[in-house]
Amino acid sequence: MSPRPNLSGPIAAGRLRRGLAIGLLVLASLVGPAAAEPLPASPLLQHYGVDQTKSAPGHHGVAIDRDGALLVASAEGVLRYDGVDWELSGLPGRSRARSIAIGDDGLAYVGGVDTFGRLARSRDGELMYEELLTRANLRGARRHVGIVWNTLPTRTGVYFRAEKSLFFVPYGEGPAQSWPLGDEVRGFHTADDRLYARVEGVGFTVFDNGRFRPEPGAEVFSRQLLAGVVDRGDWLLLVGREGLYRADAEGIHRLDGPASDAIAGVRSYSVHALDDGSFVAGTLDGELLRVDADLRLRERVDLGAFAVRDMSVDREGGLWAATEGDLVRLAMPSPWSWLGPVQGLTGTPSDFEWYDGALWLASSNGLSRLQPRTDATPVPETLPWTSMEATALHASDAGLLIGVREGLLVLDRGASRPRQLFDSGFDSVYWLVASRHDPAWVYGLSSERLLLLHEDAGRWTLRAALPLDGLNINGMVEAGAGELWFGDTRGPVQRWRLDLAAGALLDRRTFADADGLALVPGNGTSVFRLDERVHAISSERGFVLDGERFVADVAPPLTLVDRPWELQVEETALGDYAYTSRELWHRPADGGDWQRLFPGAQGAVGYTWLRTGRDGVLRLATWNGLLQFDPEERAVPSQPLRLTMERVIARGPDGETLRLPSSSEPIPVRVPAGHSLNLRFGMVSMESGAEFRYVLHGVTPDWSSWTDRDLFIRALPPGDYVLEVEARTRNGRRAPSMNYHFQVEHFWHEQWWMRVLLLIAALATLTAVTLWIVRLRTERYIAANRRLESRIAERTRELEELNRQLAELVTEDALTGVANRRALENGLRREWMRCLDQRRPLSVLMIDVDNFKAYNDSHGHLEGDLQLKGIAQKLFAQHDPQRELLARYGGEEFALLLPGVHADDALRRAEQIRQAVADSAIGMTVSIGVAGFVPDVQAEPDSLLRRADAALYAAKRGGRNRVEGE
Ligand code: GH3
Ligand code: MG
Ligand code: MG
Repeated sequence: MSPRPNLSGPIAAGRLRRGLAIGLLVLASLVGPAAAEPLPASPLLQHYGVDQTKSAPGHHGVAIDRDGALLVASAEGVLRYDGVDWELSGLPGRSRARSIAIGDDGLAYVGGVDTFGRLARSRDGELMYEELLTRANLRGARRHVGIVWNTLPTRTGVYFRAEKSLFFVPYGEGPAQSWPLGDEVRGFHTADDRLYARVEGVGFTVFDNGRFRPEPGAEVFSRQLLAGVVDRGDWLLLVGREGLYRADAEGIHRLDGPASDAIAGVRSYSVHALDDGSFVAGTLDGELLRVDADLRLRERVDLGAFAVRDMSVDREGGLWAATEGDLVRLAMPSPWSWLGPVQGLTGTPSDFEWYDGALWLASSNGLSRLQPRTDATPVPETLPWTSMEATALHASDAGLLIGVREGLLVLDRGASRPRQLFDSGFDSVYWLVASRHDPAWVYGLSSERLLLLHEDAGRWTLRAALPLDGLNINGMVEAGAGELWFGDTRGPVQRWRLDLAAGALLDRRTFADADGLALVPGNGTSVFRLDERVHAISSERGFVLDGERFVADVAPPLTLVDRPWELQVEETALGDYAYTSRELWHRPADGGDWQRLFPGAQGAVGYTWLRTGRDGVLRLATWNGLLQFDPEERAVPSQPLRLTMERVIARGPDGETLRLPSSSEPIPVRVPAGHSLNLRFGMVSMESGAEFRYVLHGVTPDWSSWTDRDLFIRALPPGDYVLEVEARTRNGRRAPSMNYHFQVEHFWHEQWWMRVLLLIAALATLTAVTLWIVRLRTERYIAANRRLESRIAERTRELEELNRQLAELVTEDALTGVANRRALENGLRREWMRCLDQRRPLSVLMIDVDNFKAYNDSHGHLEGDLQLKGIAQKLFAQHDPQRELLARYGGEEFALLLPGVHADDALRRAEQIRQAVADSAIGMTVSIGVAGFVPDVQAEPDSLLRRADAALYAAKRGGRNRVEGE
């Protein structure tokens, strides 16, 4: 019991095989013991046409080289395919390649037209063709040997069969031998290290001492064509046009039976023996027949319209068939066979069941039925019982339950049409599973309900439809009769306890963090059953039920898979299967470890649903078809994968390239200094392609992520490096890792003597440069100094000017604190204009300290200043600052401006001031000159001062300490 596939997902696009006829027949042994009739299926196969190879077909030979790559003798030369790229190597004179085989020395030998030779990889990884015809020492026209039809390796060398001659080239370097051939010598084959040929009119012969000697009973093949020889130890199996024959010391006898008759009915042309003792015969009509070691015909596969010329088996067990038009890779033999578009199955399969002698298939395209027929090609029959998809199937003696979009149908035993058991209203019944405890009960799931179905007196009945109430089921496990466990795509695990007979839900419990599960918000849970236990998955972590609690599940299969959240597990009679969309694991029923299965490339991707049908056959739905498992067949075991360095190219700083050895054995590869590297790894996987990762020890911190085959390494500093590379196939097989050692060389200038020279030169240069710099700097300093000085001078001038401007703005005398001369002049002009307007008088007093010079001289200038301040204060006290202006006119001379005061009043004020000074403690006197009048437009303001000054002069002359008017 497991989560079901996503039914609403897009239909995976099945690649329809071009040119592949549908007629396929798998004999009874392919299906399980319960099946009454054989079921048609085909081997997993894949066609490679000119779309992939990009070169002309006409394939006459295939071989697998030492690295596991496919080599094809084709119309344009030798094609090499490593699972990713197709690479064409031409032969001399653009000859077509007509035959190819791998010698016991591991090299590929090729027959062309007028040429034969071998392919080898040089140490730098280039595939090279070495002409071997020269070894035969032929001259002139004798070199024109025509088509080399066959390349036939033996233990000591290779036979090349040309039109008129037979050649033998020993491995290594020895000269070639040659023998003339008559027209009557036809088909050539090797077996048990001997060369056999059919000679027209004579029959089956062995090549012995330069002669074709007839074998006992040779004449059976005197006229009959011989397609192939299979070594059976003490006898040879001959595949002739008229059947199968046994050749031994007694003679040649037909092996009567169905296989022989089948061979007699086709035009067999090529034969390939497989490791399991079976062989495959390819026909001129594009068919393959596989006959097993017991001479039972096991498979017939129609590959298309082209003659099958040659076959070979790759390292992963894939059988390659070269036809004139394309190349086909088959998983043959394989326990897995395939039902897909070729069998007429369409849509994404949801479920499948064996019922009433047919395979029923529920898919996104509806319901169909495939009825095997021994006499003719089966045609799938579409059943018109649902207008939309069919989603689930379950068969029993009582009939076939069919989940469809509209609900649930049942085809009662013997009925030709189904009846509707449940109408869900477009809520698909997507899962039908029988109770493990009582198969008369079947659980049916839709997205909204759990259906309880019971078989009553040979008829299916619906007992209950219980609402899920928001539970979005993701897996179901029946832990006991009526005890169901559910995963929920949106939340915790639930356990339901049911009374089946009553069709009632007794108890419903949620298991979450408190019960040992670690739920991840936004992620749901799923459940599966294994080893009698309930397992749960929450996001990427696994849990297993232990009593009433979940504990961590740290065992396989959960620990094995890349996508644990997708894990589904199915316990079957053939063992347990665990799968995700990308992986399939199996644990045999008789114990043992989990093993990963690789059913084969085509169709075997995207596993969605595995179950054993009522016929006992295990089937597995994939994204685009259905795999069937035949426990009687064994897959061809894979050989170990080989990781190689295919190519190393160094690129210099100027873009020049250099091919380096692709192997660092036995000596590390030398990389010129300053060169970057382009490396190409190679590992052949025909099944799923290869991917690589690497670590450059000491340079990269850790392994890279898995990536493709090309790696660029920037130019590295001199030193020793080890590049370690790992490879795996995309379906998970690993190859042993590989080390590539390389040494990056030093530049020429990094040699020791060059370094000494460079050091001396550098020191000399350094000294010269230092001196030069010192001189340059000194000159610069002087110039800068000059510039600085002139700048200072300039700044000083600017400052003086600013000071002057500033001084003009000052209206207060610094020493005495009264207004200064400029303030007086401004005040005079202002009051002059005002008095002029108002026709009022304006008077001024000029006040000069008497005999001040004498005081200065006797007491000193500083004392004089103090004295001056004292007089100023005295004068200040004598005036009204609101209306009058007292100013220091200069030196020890003051002026008092009296707006609106007549000359007479001014005289009186002057007298008061004089008196006040004289009476004060200052001990000095002042003389005052007074002038006053009403200004008129003809006069200048200065005239007032001049007249007051004249009056002052008069006062001085009059004896000082006096007031004088005009
Ligand atoms: P008279 O009575 O004729 O005015 O004589 P006097 O000495 O006062 O006049 P005179 O013009 O001959 O001399 C003025 C002196 O006042 C000259 C100068 O030494 C002094 N004097 C002018 N300004 C200042 C000043 O700001 N501080 C000091 N200490 N003395 C000043
Ligand atoms: Mg004076
Ligand atoms: Mg004076």
